[in-house]
Amino acid sequence: MFKRELFSAGHEALREDVGAFLEAEIVPHHDDWAASGHIPREVWRKAGAAGLLCRTVPREYGGVGGSFIDSVVIIEELAKRRISGLLSFLQSDIVAPFILKLGSEDQKAHWLPGFCSGETLGAIAMTEPQGGSDISGLKTRAQRHGEGLLLDGTKTHISNGSAADVIIVAARADDGAPGQQPAISLILAEAARPGINRTRIAKSGMPALDTSEITFDNCLVPSGNLLGAEGMGFVYLMTFLGIERLALAIYAQASAERMLRDLIADCDARKGVEGTVLDFQNTRFSLADLYSACAVNRAFIDNCIKVAEAGRPDPKGACIAKLRATDCLRQIAALGVQYRGAAGISGESGSRATQDMVDSAVQSVWGGTSEIMRDVIGRGLASVL
Ligand SMILES: Cc1cc2nc3c(=O)[nH]c(=O)nc-3n(C[C@H](O)[C@H](O)[C@H](O)COP(=O)(O)OP(=O)(O)OC[C@H]3O[C@@H](n4cnc5c(N)ncnc54)[C@H](O)[C@@H]3O)c2cc1C
Repeated sequence: MFKRELFSAGHEALREDVGAFLEAEIVPHHDDWAASGHIPREVWRKAGAAGLLCRTVPREYGGVGGSFIDSVVIIEELAKRRISGLLSFLQSDIVAPFILKLGSEDQKAHWLPGFCSGETLGAIAMTEPQGGSDISGLKTRAQRHGEGLLLDGTKTHISNGSAADVIIVAARADDGAPGQQPAISLILAEAARPGINRTRIAKSGMPALDTSEITFDNCLVPSGNLLGAEGMGFVYLMTFLGIERLALAIYAQASAERMLRDLIADCDARKGVEGTVLDFQNTRFSLADLYSACAVNRAFIDNCIKVAEAGRPDPKGACIAKLRATDCLRQIAALGVQYRGAAGISGESGSRATQDMVDSAVQSVWGGTSEIMRDVIGRGLASVL
């Protein structure tokens, strides 16, 4: 839809390979997986064998030592096909980097090869039933107990939560001094440990994605499962959320471009007495506004990608990218129903348009809501003067 300068011939070849894999192995089955709320385990292994997982992980840990732009290509190809089940970037660009950057040599050697091959699945658990926006208010505890740590608490809406073999759990190490933030630790909890219970959550948005509640009831893990330094979890989460939010912005932007392209085509094809729906000035004006917003967002996001690729990720830029891309996406999704008339809610085109509406609602919630993006951007305003 827009001219871009990010991709080499190698990236374009990767795009073709990824597209061919998704068309052959994912698209034909995706409706069934949306109905069951998860994808079969075997699909992750196939994705690993096809080179879709953890491309930025170095070769010594089973990856291909690729760059962030490889991930960008994969995220975009998933979004172009409305794929919600195999959200490989959760594993590749959100969970794996915590282990790669914070893990001990043993932890990296133990977990990363399986992450790359698809033999092992990871999840990250921050959100709790009483609220996900305020991470410093989380209640799950990780208390010292002999040589180990006792985990107690509940996490909710955790992606890949039921299937994951290992869960990075954000938990309170202590309550902090009065008026101060609690100390939060990140802990690798193997899913097979006693005291862990998982329940899949039924949901309408991103339906093929396994989204689960996980309870930890006196779950004992060795203290060697701490990821990074004890009590430093809040700092780590804030640092890594930047790349998570950029990945989510990239997914939202590619979804917005796909939906806008389809909507323009459908408006152009729908003929009435006075011409097509695209001939109405009102339609053209609002689609022109959204096309312009998409164009500006594309330029901004591609710049964020370049900066991240150069090893200088910009957390605030990622918040702006996520806020703008998801806002635009939701507007396109709403018009996607309205401008198709009754066909926006019935038949094949209607089920796609209404699914786009619910899927787009997820985008402005997960990884930090739009209100939280505005809060982060707003709090830093004085520093831009
Ligand atoms: C499909 C899906 C997958 C997810 N995957 C994961 C995952 O893998 N791991 C994980 O940890 N979490 C995951 N989440 C949870 C997600 O990150 C949270 O839903 C999100 O952070 C918001 O938290 P909440 O739902 O508890 O809303 P709340 O925090 O309860 O917020 C409710 C409302 O209040 C607003 N609000 C809250 N605080 C403020 C404030 N300070 N100022 C203004 N408004 C405010 C919010 O914007 C929102 O509109 C997932 C969610 C979904 C839908």
